[in-house]
Amino acid sequence: MREFAYHRPGDLQAAVALLADGESRPVSGGMTLLPTMKQRLAAPPALVDLSTIPGMAGVTVEGRTVTVGALSTHESVASSPEIVACIPALASLAGVIGDPAVRHRGTIGGSVANADPGADYPAAVLGLDATVVTDRREIGADDFFIGLFTTALAPDEIITAIRFPVPDAAGYAKFRSQASRFALVGVFVARFGPFVRVAVTGAAPCVFRQKDIEEVLARDFTPSALTRISIAPSGLNSDIHADSEYRAHLVMVMARRAVEQALGAPARP
Ligand SMILES: Cc1cc2nc3c(=O)[nH]c(=O)nc-3n(C[C@H](O)[C@H](O)[C@H](O)COP(=O)(O)OP(=O)(O)OC[C@H]3O[C@@H](n4cnc5c(N)ncnc54)[C@H](O)[C@@H]3O)c2cc1C
Repeated sequence: MREFAYHRPGDLQAAVALLADGESRPVSGGMTLLPTMKQRLAAPPALVDLSTIPGMAGVTVEGRTVTVGALSTHESVASSPEIVACIPALASLAGVIGDPAVRHRGTIGGSVANADPGADYPAAVLGLDATVVTDRREIGADDFFIGLFTTALAPDEIITAIRFPVPDAAGYAKFRSQASRFALVGVFVARFGPFVRVAVTGAAPCVFRQKDIEEVLARDFTPSALTRISIAPSGLNSDIHADSEYRAHLVMVMARRAVEQALGAPARP
């Protein structure tokens, strides 16, 4: 790890000002950024610690919208009574991230900003058509995730909250890597009246919507509707964990499980 400065600003404006050089990085849980720095894959001149900025953690519900503060840990999302009541699939997704240490330190804002191709939250953000709220604007999920570890955020932009619309039904199924616990493939399915959104993580360089599955489920929201279709492996990741054909197969299996869960089956551990 190289030498770096450490700042602990008292408010959001001060944090944004400290990021103005475009090289310094905000740190929330540090679960991803610090290992990356230890491995010398990142060497920011300064870390701007967001963790003590007031008003950036916690869950609020207004009508059919659930707002989750960016500093909310995965554990606090998993155990939030409001999220369990309004979007149980989001709570169960948070509960299968990493291990207890990661869940108690890692934050939703850090995970969404990082846009790891195997991360779980991006599937919920895209599947639920959430809005990413930052210090300066609001970004719809379809415009937020751009590519491998790449989002629409400017270098000095800070996520303050994620706003999730409450779906009529939703489910998330993940086939995890036994080594890292990240998703080899994860599928989030959400139904809003006649519309269905399906977001896939882990299978490609960036989370994506699978429109073929969305169209089938909009006509018939049942697991059996998905036995009639398959997806092509082209463009999916092939690596030591799984080749693209296997990932294409897993997308369909996880989609069926996500629909089962949306229809009331318990989430598989
Ligand atoms: C052993 C292990 C297992 C894991 N398993 C999983 C898993 O199964 N599924 C999964 O999804 N994740 C997994 N993770 C990742 C974990 O969820 C991290 O917590 C998460 O990716 C990053 O959150 P953080 O708060 O720690 O972010 P940090 O490490 O603090 O930051 C990550 C990145 O986001 C930026 N950032 C942080 N906060 C903000 C903000 N509010 N606004 C803008 N930019 C910000 C930072 O500058 C940095 O670039 C795992 C991590 C570990 C170490």
